[in-house]
Amino acid sequence: MNGGALVIVGGGPAGLAAARSYRDAGGDMAVTMLAGERHHPYKRPPLTKDYLRGETDRSELPIESPSFFDDNDITFVPGARARALDLRARTVATEDHGDFGYEACVLATGSEPFRLPIPGADDPELHVMRTIEDSDRLAAAAVAGARAVVVGSGFIGCEAAASLAMRGAEVTLVSDEAVPQERRLGDEAGSRIRTWLEELGVTLKMGAGVAGIEAGDGCHGVTVEGGESVQGDIVFLGTGVRARVALAEAAGLPIAEGGVVTDSSMHTGAEDIWAAGDITYAMNAAAGRRLRVEHWGEALNQGTIAGKAIAGAVARWDIAPGFWSTIGTKTLKHVAWGDGHDEVRVEEDGDGWSVWYGSRGVTVGVLTHNRDDDHDTGRKLVETKGPLP
Ligand SMILES: Cc1cc2nc3c(=O)[nH]c(=O)nc-3n(C[C@H](O)[C@H](O)[C@H](O)COP(=O)(O)OP(=O)(O)OC[C@H]3O[C@@H](n4cnc5c(N)ncnc54)[C@H](O)[C@@H]3O)c2cc1C
Repeated sequence: MNGGALVIVGGGPAGLAAARSYRDAGGDMAVTMLAGERHHPYKRPPLTKDYLRGETDRSELPIESPSFFDDNDITFVPGARARALDLRARTVATEDHGDFGYEACVLATGSEPFRLPIPGADDPELHVMRTIEDSDRLAAAAVAGARAVVVGSGFIGCEAAASLAMRGAEVTLVSDEAVPQERRLGDEAGSRIRTWLEELGVTLKMGAGVAGIEAGDGCHGVTVEGGESVQGDIVFLGTGVRARVALAEAAGLPIAEGGVVTDSSMHTGAEDIWAAGDITYAMNAAAGRRLRVEHWGEALNQGTIAGKAIAGAVARWDIAPGFWSTIGTKTLKHVAWGDGHDEVRVEEDGDGWSVWYGSRGVTVGVLTHNRDDDHDTGRKLVETKGPLP
């Protein structure tokens, strides 16, 4: 596509990757990125890890150098929040930066933290994690000896619990799972993660959900189902995210499974509208079905595909989704289709281990710690529907 403008809504990794790959593929339309945040695109993964612990400086967070946008003739508009997408007029209206006409548009509005529908969870004093500001506020509160209650044992909850403990806070993690990440990774991996957290001094209260959160005098009480109340100077909600699909939905784009429906080139089906990153429910050509994925690498992959496709190149999403997580100093790498397994095999040697996930004898996922060869082999087996090793 040439002439006109490519308008990208969202200044995260998916939006950035779309702009970059469009230019790399020779696209010569004007490119404008409307970014709801006031920062240039930055790395979110450190926000619960090294950045939260004060081991990484803010200057290390930007994904690209300051000159990248000028060098690539990309207009980056910080703080420009899109409020409406008009498919007929082919415009994106922003809250206070006017309207932007488009020849092509990429929606990459990402996710936001989800608060459980329980009494007290909407209290703005509680901590959530998505932005630099969220991480700074949590770090400021996490002084040595502070009592921190982390609600939720997914990756964000586990990473935050580990980092808070490493900052010297007294951390209690509360979750309805029997072991951390049980729902996604199963018991074998969950028990190992539990041990890592316990070694850092985290107290785990597992197997009971949170019934409510009450504000007290400078602290909060987290009431666990069954009646026990855990007091925290800090309460951190790591209870999942929801895709920001309101803009797409209001414009009439198809939404399913909480995401914007796309084909494997990230096209939404609406004329000249693509979507990428956490907001998508995208067709994966290798899986042969649509997937909802909220991973850093896939946001970059999907943005890259959208940018190439808009520039006229052939591109499709056909790799198995993967992510990594670092809990304290321990790193996990995962590749999986993410829709269930009926068999689990564990292999261990020394400090490393791998958990293989199968469904009807076919490899559907692998989780590794210090076994990168298994990670690489696992990816091939998952993508080729190979047998469990
Ligand atoms: C603390 C943390 C740690 C993580 N760690 C890992 C990890 O270790 N490994 C991993 O694989 N993944 C990790 N993730 C997930 C990963 O960061 C996300 O999958 C990724 O950021 C998604 O990219 P995105 O571009 O789709 O959305 P986002 O990164 O959410 O970016 C979307 C951007 O769009 C902006 N926006 C929203 N609405 C509008 C609007 N109407 N107008 C303009 N702009 C708008 C938002 O403000 C935001 O800046 C982590 C996430 C968090 C929060």
